[in-house]
This record gives sequence, C-alpha cells and structure tokens, in this order.
Amino acid sequence: MTDFVFDPPVQPSVPVEGTSARFPVRRIFCVGRNYAAHRAEMGGDDREPPFFFTKPADAVVPPGGVVAYPSATTNLHHEIELVACLGGGGADVPVEAAMSLVFGYAVGVDLTRRDLQAASREKGHPWDSAKAFDASAPISAIRLAALAGDIQGRIQLEVNGKARQDSTVSNMIWSLPEIIAEASKLWRLAPGDLIFTGTPEGVGPLVRGDIVHGEIEAVGALDFTIT
Ligand code: MN
Repeated sequence: MTDFVFDPPVQPSVPVEGTSARFPVRRIFCVGRNYAAHRAEMGGDDREPPFFFTKPADAVVPPGGVVAYPSATTNLHHEIELVACLGGGGADVPVEAAMSLVFGYAVGVDLTRRDLQAASREKGHPWDSAKAFDASAPISAIRLAALAGDIQGRIQLEVNGKARQDSTVSNMIWSLPEIIAEASKLWRLAPGDLIFTGTPEGVGPLVRGDIVHGEIEAVGALDFTIT
C-alpha cells in the first residue's frame, strides 16, 4: 500500500439511480455555447467551432445539497445542462461509436461567475476563476443510458418557481456523439469523465436564498438552494 505524506483526497462521486454503487468522477469537460439562442445572448457567432473548458472533479455537488454563494463574485449565473457520464473511454472515437461510451445521463448546472468571465474575455485570460471554482457543478443522480433512451426532450430551469430557461436538447448545435468525438481528439477520454454539453438561452443571476429547480425530460431533476 502506498504511503502518502498526508491522506489523499476523497474520490468525488455521484449517486446512480437504482443502485447503492456510486459513479466515481474523473474529470469534468464542459462545452461552451452549444445552443444558438444562448450563443446569441452571449454575443457569439453561429459558425464558431465547439470549444471546451474544464472544472475539477471535486467541483461536483451531489444531489440533496445546498450551494454556498461563492466568493469573489457579485454576478453568479445558472446554466442548466445535460451531462453525459462516461463509462468507457478512448482517443479519436468515431462519431458512430461515441454513444457506446455513455454510461448514463444527469442534470447539471454549470455555475458561472459571469463578472469574472467577462473580465477574462476582455483581457484574453483563462476562464478558470469564472468556471472552475469550488462547488461550481451541482448535479443530479445519474440515470442509466439504457433507461433514459435518446435524450432530445425539454430542458428547463426555474428559480423560486419562475421559469428562467426552457428549451429542448434537440436544439444543441453539436450533438452528443459529435461532442464526444471532438473531445476525444483533444483528450484520451476515460470512465468517470463527465461532459457538460452546454446551456440554452435564459441564463441569469442567482442570489442567496434562491431555490433552483432544473429538469431534463427522460433524465431527471435537480434541486438546490443558494445559501
Ligand atoms: Mn455552460
């Protein structure tokens, strides 16, 4: 047994519906601007190729949680996203083979310090402080891919019972198999990797006390409170 100089960190994990076994999270990849109407609200161009950013694995907040309002921002935004949870891996995965890597799906929120993101964009600085902060990835339990089927349905988010985001997964510019294939050109994907697939329009601010409810048809729901 390896003798570490201090206790290694706890393995971040997410519950899986129908079993007491948990999904161990390895890495979190996120796709930027993958719905045309959100790309438009962020001032983007439809012809841009997809791009990726990452969050640390321990940014996940398993369901049932509260999320503390993060430091260093006065403009925390919600972005509801379909999350693909990989049970397989590989490099240069063809589009036709990509779906065989998917273990299951979850509802995720890509929490964003929008003010820091705007400052980073302006200066050409990296997005880490805007996207990859502690507890920036609340996530639901994982539904097995075989039970979820082909996810194309409604994706919606409410804050305090009021609709904020409401679209359908079929509006994604890059489909899930295309995203997996593209990511696998840049990284050797592995079991435990999560892919946040981008958010539809309607992103907006969260404040302390807000009750967030997100839902994706055939996948499930996610609830948390900002404290
Ligand atoms: Mn996002």
